[in-house]
Amino acid sequence: MQEFRNISVVLVQTSHPGNIGAAARAMKNMGLSRLILVNPAEFPSGVAVGRAAGAVNVLESAAVVDSLPEAVADCGLVIGASARSRRIPWPMLSPEQTAQQVAAECNSSAVALVFGREDSGLNNEELQLCNYHVQIPTNPDYSSLNLAAAVMVLCYELHKVSLSIEETTLDTYHDWDQDIATGEQVEHFYQHLERVMVAIDFHDPENPRQLMQRMRRLFSRIRIDVMEMNILRGILTNIEYNISKRDK
Ligand code: SAH
Repeated sequence: MQEFRNISVVLVQTSHPGNIGAAARAMKNMGLSRLILVNPAEFPSGVAVGRAAGAVNVLESAAVVDSLPEAVADCGLVIGASARSRRIPWPMLSPEQTAQQVAAECNSSAVALVFGREDSGLNNEELQLCNYHVQIPTNPDYSSLNLAAAVMVLCYELHKVSLSIEETTLDTYHDWDQDIATGEQVEHFYQHLERVMVAIDFHDPENPRQLMQRMRRLFSRIRIDVMEMNILRGILTNIEYNISKRDK
């Protein structure tokens, strides 16, 4: 069995502490331990401890952060679980493909599996921080799973893959000469890109027409590495420099 490292389960603004406890239990059952809570309504919580049963250590070591960008700042692969499809289509994985993708990358960079709020799921901005979305196939007339049940399905798929593979067989970026860019590095790039597109009058923030969403989707598809990102940042910096020279 391969030990999966570097995998976090991220729960965004969970309202019911019982779901946090049940998610921690599902994680430990399936061999995962890194839990990140983004703005939970109630945590720490006795109810969560009760539902976690023998997985209290997962709760005790959970990190609590203020925002999803903060939770995924160090991640090279971010996968968001969503019961619904969205306005701009995004690369989708099945639960089985999710487990394969995570196994292929978790030895080379940190990975996050992101789950949304009980009432409204993940918002569009949060979904756009993800490289892929995963939808668990369900009854189309009643598609939304309980949060901890959704965590269990994906952790179980991961555990099955970990039981079946040899170390490095799936490690896509094993021999890569550069690290894959992290969530934080990619966020800085998007901000820089937006600034330059405004400066060259390509992008009108008053009339954005989904431009930034489409740029995010483009770059999140290609798993850009740190060197490639630096080249693009360098190009943007030179464009800015040349604009400022021209305007003098
Ligand atoms: N009513 C919400 C669903 C919230 S369920 C909505 O319509 O979006 C809480 C979380 O569990 C979701 O944000 C998602 O991360 C996960 N989840 C529930 N059902 C799922 C499914 N069928 N596929 C993938 N994730 C699911």
